[in-house]
Amino acid sequence: MDELLTETGNHNFIEEIIAGHLAQGKYQEIITRFPPEPNGYLHLGHASSICLNFGLTQRFKGYTNLRFDDTNPATEETEYVLSIKQDIAWLGFTWKHELYASDYFEQLYQYALQLIRQGVAYVDDSTSEQIAAQKGTPTQAGTHSPYRNRSIAENEALFIQMRNGNYPDGAKVLRAKIDMASPNMIMRDPLLYRIKRAHHHRTADAWCIYPMYDFAHGQSDSIEHITHSICTMEFVPHRELYDWCIQQLGIYPSKQYEFARRNINYTITSKRKLLQLVEQGHVQGWNDPRMPTISGLRRRGYTATSIRNFCTKMGIGKRENMMDVSLLEYCVREDLNKVALRRMVVFNAIKVILTNMPAGHVEQLTTENNPEDASTGTRALTMGNTLYIEQDDFMEQPTKKYFRLAPGLMVRLKSGFIIQCNEVIKHADGSIKELHCTYLPNSKSGQDTSGVVVKGTLHWVNADTAVPITVHEYDRLFTVEDPNDQVEAFTHYLNPNSLVTVQAYAEPSLATASIGQHYQFIRKGYYCTDEASTATHLIFNRTVTLKDGWAKKDK
Ligand code: ATP
Ligand code: MG
Repeated sequence: MDELLTETGNHNFIEEIIAGHLAQGKYQEIITRFPPEPNGYLHLGHASSICLNFGLTQRFKGYTNLRFDDTNPATEETEYVLSIKQDIAWLGFTWKHELYASDYFEQLYQYALQLIRQGVAYVDDSTSEQIAAQKGTPTQAGTHSPYRNRSIAENEALFIQMRNGNYPDGAKVLRAKIDMASPNMIMRDPLLYRIKRAHHHRTADAWCIYPMYDFAHGQSDSIEHITHSICTMEFVPHRELYDWCIQQLGIYPSKQYEFARRNINYTITSKRKLLQLVEQGHVQGWNDPRMPTISGLRRRGYTATSIRNFCTKMGIGKRENMMDVSLLEYCVREDLNKVALRRMVVFNAIKVILTNMPAGHVEQLTTENNPEDASTGTRALTMGNTLYIEQDDFMEQPTKKYFRLAPGLMVRLKSGFIIQCNEVIKHADGSIKELHCTYLPNSKSGQDTSGVVVKGTLHWVNADTAVPITVHEYDRLFTVEDPNDQVEAFTHYLNPNSLVTVQAYAEPSLATASIGQHYQFIRKGYYCTDEASTATHLIFNRTVTLKDGWAKKDK
């Protein structure tokens, strides 16, 4: 884990680089950008990039722009723009300027004309197959396009006509004139512009030519005076072209730095594949609580703090590796332990009758909302003579060291009384109907004078006031660590038990649970009120179990 500080007090190699630049006086302020393409919802991989980019400008003096990298009109939608903004804000970050690469289309077009006039860009009529063939191979130089030596005047005229819509899609492209023998294949006369008639989510039909990523990204960085343009490792070979364009144009010299993509086991972090899960109905949408999207995690009950802590603990590096999702689960348990309100919910109920409590008698009890946070106060609970406890908490023939309820044994009911089981009442088929117990009236929690010591404390609900709730028991989405690295397609490895819906009895305070509220259902796990929950149909999502159940399974 890269969590440890380096000798100079920095968290990672990019902080080291920036600290060095500041020490040299190279920059007065640090400007980064987070550049999502609005073609899907943000996922955990993006969270890592967001925490890095915004984290750097929080640590060092400066700011971060949110720039939508919307140069590919076919796949981009306004819905995605809105969700991306919501997710970044929810994660707790504030961008300085909200920008769109498409706002630079006119400027980028002017830059392209400048390259043409400088004799370093040309219009090529070759087909995409011909261009691919001209590229050569990593060990063999490419060949020149027959259009490479067009005059500057001709290139300029053709490019203007491309922009004016005089040619069909794909008929011509604009290429940089660099070096067809370059050892870096990307430098072999890369494409700068293509003709594509597609409706753009912001510029509508104003343009029929669109800049390629390599021509849009660096120039957009430069326009915004981005000092450190951070991207993932697959862009290492593009850095030479990034620098070449900026140098040819003589514009602000932004610089690119790369770090390794973050992958997380038992899930996938690729928008394309997540879109497939949505479109094929494997999940209920981008914010399905099983999705590794920020919106899915939020709905599941993950807190922004836990995701930020996870990103910090993951750190950044130059080697791609698989992060363990149990680290994320650890981070959310750690945070929810501090903030989740404690409540009692019985999942598989068994009825308990307190035979020495008269019908209609009600005991008033008090219990803490969160022992980790006194400011959350206490709440009132009532106990009558009919209760529910978990089937799991009773054993007719107890094993040794069984500290829960069994015939003749005593337990404490949380924040209530000590009870003893006297009789097991059965149905005709032999199954248990109810337990007849007695309570010790002088054993009330906090005022116990009974002198009886018990080892087990059980959660319970009062049958008279319990409210029925629906619980979504979510689990990991995939059954294998790396769904991308298998014989079959990744969808083959979906966990069929990633959602199990059960009914449970909750204490009455959950009847007024607000959406998104975090709870610990005592002895069960962390839960959160689902966005679809209503007063008449209460729904809770399991965020995570109290302990790591997969650690055992894996062994
Ligand atoms: P995907 O493959 O899921 O579509 P992408 O890289 O195409 O991801 P963008 O919207 O272009 O998605 O990404 C915005 C920023 O987030 C980029 O700077 C990208 O490098 C970063 N990013 C995306 N996925 C990851 C990841 N798994 N780990 C770290 N950074 C990521
Ligand atoms: Mg991308």
